[in-house]
Amino acid sequence: MPELPDLELDKRLVDAHAVGRTVRTVTVRDKRVLEQPASVLERGVKGRRLARSERHGKNLFIHLDNGQALLMHFGMTGYLKFAKSDEALQKSEAVVFVLDDDQRLSYCSRRMLGRVELVEAVRDYLDAHRIGPDALSLDARGFRERLGQRGGLKAALMDQSKLAGLGNVYSDETLFQAGLHPRTPLNALNEDDFARLFRCMREVLETAIAHEGKRPELPAGWLTPHRHEDERCPRCGSPWSVAQVGGRTTFWCPKDQPER
Ligand SMILES: [Zn+2]
Repeated sequence: MPELPDLELDKRLVDAHAVGRTVRTVTVRDKRVLEQPASVLERGVKGRRLARSERHGKNLFIHLDNGQALLMHFGMTGYLKFAKSDEALQKSEAVVFVLDDDQRLSYCSRRMLGRVELVEAVRDYLDAHRIGPDALSLDARGFRERLGQRGGLKAALMDQSKLAGLGNVYSDETLFQAGLHPRTPLNALNEDDFARLFRCMREVLETAIAHEGKRPELPAGWLTPHRHEDERCPRCGSPWSVAQVGGRTTFWCPKDQPER
């Protein structure tokens, strides 16, 4: 599932290939990814220049030259694709934007759980959907304030209303590197724990971006490249503990991330 680093890479792709271009045509090929009638999207985006892009957590916004924005959320399996406009279309290309340089930008989704939407204002959209600040926009103090005092650590890290961008894989990685058990109650953390957790989160996200989101190629000492039930902790060789935490399948090392 795409998380913040994957979205950052999508943003860079959009910046390199689409920003500054004018949209010649919009074709909705699968309405299931839309939140509004296809005609609203098609009429609203056709002829508009793509002014700039903005990533916010797991959401990508492409600002249009009239102040509106195109929201893309990638669900479990969504991704962007650039191609020449005359290349054969694939089934997964749900919404196709043909640009004025004869390239097309396609929003692709295999399981149709993502979302494409024309929005009036980004701020209003974020407020209406209770999406908190982007994880990489926070400083150490803001990070601690957003996490709050109640509940378990992993659930809080994944709660998009607290901070936006971390999903299942990178929250597990952050906890592994910080040496914290995913079920640790927030009120059991001290100042040093929060500071370490914050440093680890930034390090994880920035390193994942630098590795272009290729999870098997992440550093060998990390959890993520070894995230299989039959593999072991690269630090101590313990078999992983695997259980549902915060509603998601969670991996941790029972020795390096002891319960408190
Ligand atoms: Zn270990």
